[in-house]
Amino acid sequence: MNAKMTKSCLLAVANMFEEKKEELSSYDAVIGDGDHGITMARGAKAAKAKLTEMEEATCRDYFKIYGRTLVSTLGGAMGPLFGSIFLELSKAVKGKEAVDAASFAQGFENAMNKVMELGGAKPGDKTMVDAMAMAVDAMNEAVTAGDSLVEILEKGAKGAKEGMEATIPMIANRGRSRYAQEKAIGHQDAGATSIAYLLETLTIALKEEISHE
Ligand code: ADP
Ligand code: MG
Repeated sequence: MNAKMTKSCLLAVANMFEEKKEELSSYDAVIGDGDHGITMARGAKAAKAKLTEMEEATCRDYFKIYGRTLVSTLGGAMGPLFGSIFLELSKAVKGKEAVDAASFAQGFENAMNKVMELGGAKPGDKTMVDAMAMAVDAMNEAVTAGDSLVEILEKGAKGAKEGMEATIPMIANRGRSRYAQEKAIGHQDAGATSIAYLLETLTIALKEEISHE
């Protein structure tokens, strides 16, 4: 995934978060304050504006601008948590002409560790970490098998979706009131859903970019 493709794929991610605004907020409404989709869409809109005005840049720069924009435009915990995904991916592709399978998988694993460090959540707490953890396992297995970046994203997206589905029966440990924690049983976590959509969108967008080459 060269720099131009990276920019297109990140624009696809931003468009997706704008489209999924209501759906993502509806999951957050069950346990949280119902603003997750609004937050992600607001970040996406700002990131899209920044990406669009950027001329020739590296893969690293494109990921970095998305991450930095999330950190600077989103209040609360979400800026640093979601921002660090893009910032860690940016660091992992530093100095590279194109994003390769192993760097993406490494960057995403570093992102998961960063999210756990910043937010204090562990797998099983019904957060985005659940989707990330299963995506990381799937991607690392794919790297070992020598898969391409598309295959890694595809398997990572499948893992993230499984991780997202695994949050449905969970009690939230990071939620607010005890009532809300139990009320969340039977509903998927909003942040985990965002992770699944993120990887799915990157997969679809990259396949499209490759087919246009
Ligand atoms: P807020 O909780 O500030 O309203 P959002 O509604 O945008 O933020 O996002 C909620 C999502 O963020 C949750 O569904 C969960 O996946 C994720 N999340 C919340 N707190 C944490 C945390 N401490 N660690 C990891 N993920 C978290
Ligand atoms: Mg919320």
